[in-house]
Amino acid sequence: MICAGIDAGSRAIKVVLLDGASGEVLSRVSADQGCQPGPQAQELFEQALAQGGLARRDVRRVVATGYARAAVQADTTVTEITCHAIGVHRTLPAARTVVEIGGQDSKLLRLDHDGRVRDFAMNDRCAAGTGRFLEMVAARLGKPVGELGRIANGNRCPAAISSMCAVFAETEIIGLLASGRPQADIIAGVQAAVAARVAAMAGGKIVQPVAFTGGVAQVDGMAQALEQALGQAVIIPDNPQYTGALGAALAAFRQIAP
Ligand code: ADP
Repeated sequence: MICAGIDAGSRAIKVVLLDGASGEVLSRVSADQGCQPGPQAQELFEQALAQGGLARRDVRRVVATGYARAAVQADTTVTEITCHAIGVHRTLPAARTVVEIGGQDSKLLRLDHDGRVRDFAMNDRCAAGTGRFLEMVAARLGKPVGELGRIANGNRCPAAISSMCAVFAETEIIGLLASGRPQADIIAGVQAAVAARVAAMAGGKIVQPVAFTGGVAQVDGMAQALEQALGQAVIIPDNPQYTGALGAALAAFRQIAP
């Protein structure tokens, strides 16, 4: 029974095709979110079908999640909080806390031992605790965001970024660059600032094990920055950016499983 999960996030669209009975992921694809999330999600869904050697009629149910889920052609929608919880429970069943840092929001979920959401907090008001801040510094340095970690390369002298707002922080970064501060220090400083905003949301109430998911978990150095800010170890599950889409595909299977 093949099911699809489409996570139309604020920054990227992710599609997972899953064989619900075996739990095997048949294909996963992602692309930047453009200005037309509906048609773009449809195109990506077709790419996922082609990658898995499947036809549309092979897919029994489609669940959409994420910020732009209402624009996606699907059988039903499920919130991203629920989908992230389901996805993490599949990839890291022991996880009791989930820190998800996406393109324009960050979330903190507390799960029970069955993977049900017990509590959550979300920041979708301030770019400083999101992937957007990393993208902004990458654009300023003229580098792809995926390369930031390589440039920072385990840097231990992060520049202090004191502005609480990403817009003012950009001005601060321009000043640091003008004063000759190395790019590696600035990237490490921005990573520490993102991690600090997320840790503030947790308010010290972290239950282990902690899963770190979302596109930002792919950036080298972010896990270490988060561990330092939380004072706790974190684990990145496989394919962390696809956790919501995987959860949506699993939710689709739950809806039709006999
Ligand atoms: P959303 O679900 O909100 O669209 P994602 O979980 O897909 O967000 O994460 C998007 C974020 O992932 C970007 O803002 C960026 O900081 C980060 N990221 C990490 N690696 C890459 C990459 N190779 N290309 C683009 N963004 C990346």
